[in-house]
Amino acid sequence: MKSAEAVSEVVAAAEESTPALWRVADPRETARKIEEIRALAAARHAVLLAHNYQLPEVQEAADFVGDSLGLALEARKADAEVIVFCGVHFMAESARILNPGRTVLLPNLSAGCALADSITPESLLKWKERYPGHTVVTYINSSAEVKALSDICCTSANAVSVVRSLPGDKVLFTPDRNLGRWVAGQVPEKQIVVYDGACPTHDVLRDASVEKVKAGHPGAVVIAHPECREDILAMADEICSTSGMTDAVKRHPEARTFIVATEWALLHQLKKRFPDRHFVPADGCIGCRLHCPYMKMIDLDALRRSLLENVFEIEVDEEDAALARLALERMMAVPRDR
Ligand code: SF4
Repeated sequence: MKSAEAVSEVVAAAEESTPALWRVADPRETARKIEEIRALAAARHAVLLAHNYQLPEVQEAADFVGDSLGLALEARKADAEVIVFCGVHFMAESARILNPGRTVLLPNLSAGCALADSITPESLLKWKERYPGHTVVTYINSSAEVKALSDICCTSANAVSVVRSLPGDKVLFTPDRNLGRWVAGQVPEKQIVVYDGACPTHDVLRDASVEKVKAGHPGAVVIAHPECREDILAMADEICSTSGMTDAVKRHPEARTFIVATEWALLHQLKKRFPDRHFVPADGCIGCRLHCPYMKMIDLDALRRSLLENVFEIEVDEEDAALARLALERMMAVPRDR
C-alpha cells in the first residue's frame, strides 16, 4: 500500500488535471479517503476498476484504469471476490457478463449512458426487420439486452477489424452513428447501415471550437475519439480509442502539445504517462463541453459506501448474459487493432 505522503502527491497531480471548477477543496482529505478505500478493498478482496473518464481522484483510488473492455478483462485475471466498477451501467454489466459468478458493484446506479440508452431491444428489433440479412455489429456501449440481440460486439479500438472480419457484406452498425460512419469509410467494401445514436459528450464538439484551440497551439497534434462528428475526425491527425491514445502520443515524439477530442478526464492519464508533454481539451474551454455527467456520478464517498454496504450489485438476466457473452467473445476472437 502507498504511504499517505505518496498518495498526497498523486492527489496533488490529479488536481492539476482537473478543471478548476471541479477541484476538491482539500487534497490531504482526499488522500485520506483513498487510503481508507484501499484498506476496505483489501479487506473485502475487491478489485477496483476505473474508466479513463472517471474523476482523477477515483482513478487514483483504483487498481486498474482503462477502457471498458480492458477493465472487464483485467477483472477476469484478478483474483478478487468483488469487482467494483467505477464507470457506467453498461460497463458494469459487461464485467458481470464476462465474470459470471462474481459480485460486480456499481457505486452509483444512476450512472447510465445516453448513447447506450439511444437503442432499446424494441428499436433494434425494428431495425433488424427493416434490414434483413444484415449482420448486427453493436458497440460495447449498449445494454446487455441489446448485445444479446446482436451478432457481434465491437469497441472503438477494434470496430474496423471486427467489421472487416465479417463473412457477409451487409452490416447493421449500432448504436453510434459517428463511429459507424467512420468505420464505413474505413471498410468501403461492405454495405453498412448505421443506426442513429450518438454520445452527446462527443457529438457536441464542433470544428469551430477545435480550430480556435489549434490557432492558440500552432503545431499541436489533434487526437480524436471516433465518437466525435465527421468534421472533427476530418481535422484530426490521429483517430483512436481511449486506450489507443497513449500509442498515438508515442507516434509523435517531436510534438510537445496535443489537442485531445474526448472526455476531459482522460487527460489525467495522458499527463501522468507523458509529464513532459502538454495536453489541451479540444473544446476551447476547460473541458466543460467534453464532460460526461454520467461518468462523474461516482466520487470517493460513493466508492467508500459501495465497499461498506455492498451496493449496487449488478445482475443480468441469465439468457441475455449468455447471448451477450457470445457476441463479446466473437469480438474478442478478432485481433485488436489500434
Ligand atoms: S462519454 Fe458518452 S458514451 Fe461514454 S458514458 Fe458518457 S454518454 Fe456514454
